[in-house]
Amino acid sequence: MHEEERPLVGWSRVADAPEMLETIQRNRRTSIIWTWVFSLLFPVGFLIAGLFSDEMPLNEALMVGFGLGLFILAINLWRFANTKRRAWDGVVVKKMEKRHYKRHDDGSSHAYMEYIVLVETEQGKTKRIVERKRGRDMYDYLVVGDRVRYHPALETYEKYDKSKDEVIYCNVCRGRNPISKDRCDRCNNLLFK
Ligand SMILES: [Zn+2]
Repeated sequence: MHEEERPLVGWSRVADAPEMLETIQRNRRTSIIWTWVFSLLFPVGFLIAGLFSDEMPLNEALMVGFGLGLFILAINLWRFANTKRRAWDGVVVKKMEKRHYKRHDDGSSHAYMEYIVLVETEQGKTKRIVERKRGRDMYDYLVVGDRVRYHPALETYEKYDKSKDEVIYCNVCRGRNPISKDRCDRCNNLLFK
């Protein structure tokens, strides 16, 4: 794709490009394989522990192993179901910072910040992008009034008007790139512009 075909204002056509659809399919296959590996790892691991360790009775080991395996399977099936949803468009309506306290068992506690971007979708729903201090990319990237699109298959966001930006985030690996680039420095996939 040439520069002149990729204006900085408007939704990118990269999302529907054959190359991107192939990347999405490939990533999906990889995560399905990993889901099965981890879902089986726990029952098998605890079975072995139950058979060969004196400290853990077999029935207890099997219960914990299958429980954890099913838990991982359920979380990932739920994620897969979400990635097949339709993309949504919305407008950033608010940004806020929230302080949280996490208590430890020894009575001490530590504070951490959450950075939240509220987006109102065209259907009138409010979506939240919640980030922590390290990795608050979308919080710094988006401003109130920005139009954004969520790409469920990649679980990432795209800004409608990129014309004032100096950076663009890769929608595949989330890496930050100069806006002048057409492909991601980190994963070499097409950038959404
Ligand atoms: Zn990338």
